[in-house]
Amino acid sequence: MTLSAANEASAEADAFASDPAVYKTLLESTLAIPWRIDWATMTFAYIGPQIEPLLGWQRDSWKTIDDWVARMHPEDRETVVEFCVSQSMAGVDHEADYRALTKDNGYVWIRDVVHVVRKENGEVDSLIGFMFDISERKKTEQELVDMHKRLETLSFEDALTGVSNRRMFDLHLDTEWKAACRAGQPLSLVLLDLDHFKQFNDNYGHVAGDECLVEVAEALKQAGGRPRDVVARFGGEEFVLLLPETDWEEAKALAERCRSAIAGLKVPHAGSECSDCVTVSIGAGTIVPTDTDHPRDFIRAVDDMLYLAKQDGRNRVMATRL
Ligand code: GH3
Ligand code: MG
Ligand code: MG
Repeated sequence: MTLSAANEASAEADAFASDPAVYKTLLESTLAIPWRIDWATMTFAYIGPQIEPLLGWQRDSWKTIDDWVARMHPEDRETVVEFCVSQSMAGVDHEADYRALTKDNGYVWIRDVVHVVRKENGEVDSLIGFMFDISERKKTEQELVDMHKRLETLSFEDALTGVSNRRMFDLHLDTEWKAACRAGQPLSLVLLDLDHFKQFNDNYGHVAGDECLVEVAEALKQAGGRPRDVVARFGGEEFVLLLPETDWEEAKALAERCRSAIAGLKVPHAGSECSDCVTVSIGAGTIVPTDTDHPRDFIRAVDDMLYLAKQDGRNRVMATRL
């Protein structure tokens, strides 16, 4: 650029900057809504006309700071007002997110970016700022939070049957084991394995097999009673019930209810050697754990009971007390 061209550009910039009409056009055409509050009187000296299409309140209805406070979601009001007033008094520029009330009783998420203007003697003269409509951003944030929650649930849930997955079971076992140790309370485990299920798949197909597993899981959910009980898919066609504060008699009775509920589904199983419908074999066990015991050994002992139930003819419960 030549010197004369540079001078010309600079003169143009000066003319642009000194023309109030330019500022007005810029201020009133931006998406952000400009405003100014006179600090001494706490009144609005200016608010952009864009406020009306956004919130529905007429521009001249924004008179004092009370109008701003009143048109804020009650849950946001106290913290936001307190924060903005204290920052302004301290002369610190700041920003705040809140839900602004619309004339038709809805809410719009706003980010207010505030600059504190001081007089020459350092006192606060006025506040100027921009309100930004951040509803879209907040919606995205909320969707991300929801998705995160959903993913969290999915990662603890068995995709086929909707009962807890193995990971969830392991976490609960760990927690309940420690709780039982501390409290000297019994902890029971019921391990179930479908009888001749390979043959079921061979006869009716894998999809029918999957549907059967869903039905069995549903029956187990109904059978498990207390809020702290956990029904989980232990693996393939094996399920497990974790029963805190449940003694041997109660665990045996519950195991028997599960066995009978599943036989009661009357899902035809022509290839089974122990019944003409789907059945389960069950191992159950109860322990009052101490620091010297280990959950792994407990599971093994219950699994041994399941093996005995299979050996003994299937469709039955074997229980042990440790
Ligand atoms: P047993 O009475 O001795 O338990 O005989 P079984 O045929 O059930 O033997 P086992 O428990 O070893 O076999 C498990 C079979 O379960 C193997 C597989 O075909 C079937 N299975 C495991 N997971 C699934 C699944 O997610 N869906 C379906 N449809 N079948 C499964
Ligand atoms: Mg099995
Ligand atoms: Mg089996």
